[in-house]
Amino acid sequence: MEQDTNNPSFVETREAAGSCPHCAYVMPRLVDCAAEYFRDGFVSCKRCGKQVDLWQAVVNKAARLSGIPAWALASLGAGQTNLVIPMESGKYREVDLCKHGVPADAKILARNYTGQTGDMTAVEWHANAPPLRFPGTVLRLMGVPFGEGPLPRTGRVAIAVVWIRGDESDAWPYLTTAFEAAAAHEYAPSMVFAQSAVEISMMPVIEQRLRRRVPADRVENFMRDSLTYSHALNVVLPYLSAECGAPKLPGAVCGALNKLRKKRNAIIHKGAKAAAVSAEDTMEGLCAAAFGFEYMRNVAPILLAEQSEGQIAMDKKLEENVP
Ligand SMILES: [Zn+2]
Repeated sequence: MEQDTNNPSFVETREAAGSCPHCAYVMPRLVDCAAEYFRDGFVSCKRCGKQVDLWQAVVNKAARLSGIPAWALASLGAGQTNLVIPMESGKYREVDLCKHGVPADAKILARNYTGQTGDMTAVEWHANAPPLRFPGTVLRLMGVPFGEGPLPRTGRVAIAVVWIRGDESDAWPYLTTAFEAAAAHEYAPSMVFAQSAVEISMMPVIEQRLRRRVPADRVENFMRDSLTYSHALNVVLPYLSAECGAPKLPGAVCGALNKLRKKRNAIIHKGAKAAAVSAEDTMEGLCAAAFGFEYMRNVAPILLAEQSEGQIAMDKKLEENVP
């Protein structure tokens, strides 16, 4: 089998949170500019210098592309890699995407192969049991000629891949599954996993924070029996963030997270058919989940910051006084 030794004639890897509505310049990755957005309420465009409402930039682009969900995901956290390689008819070739900017722990969400010279394309090669989801980060390709003409022949093929990187956090696999489901046009499961990603990034932070002043078993009972996700999102989290001097969750993001919550509940309680989840709903829900996840990543260290010795002593005293 021939290894990927040829150099592509073009390679570009991009991870961007939408683009500037004023000059169309690409914004940085969500993970890199979310902190600035939550702190200031906008992100300054690196080219035109204007203030960009990051939420609007991302949600508008994702909504525009919702007809092709796998590619819409590239505006809200997924990465996109484009390359052009020569292919020879009837020849097998492997393309190791990790050599072209894709992280080794990435999951591939979508692939596209387009012949550039009109007489050649690439098809994916597989053994007798094709995998349902794309495994790993190596493309296994066979050159296939178009139309009449002498053989063998060589032509350029453009490859575009959408992928999502790995992450250490407990909630990330849920977000990845939500992205994978959306890319496969499975909108209802996508919404359910999108909300789980936010819940799992939020609830343990609230629990840890409450345990500073209330005995662990009481907090556990409260979290299990009484604290709904809606109360956590709409009451407890804004209260804790304000108390700790953390940035506020932007109103538009909170509104979209509530919309996602209602849709998710409709799916769970009335069924996916009755909930009638559209591609647009899913893109907005995934944007909300991606921003909610990043918000928790940003505020968790503030909510759980080390306490001063005086504060710890005061908390201990308070705890002793709890009847
Ligand atoms: Zn701009």
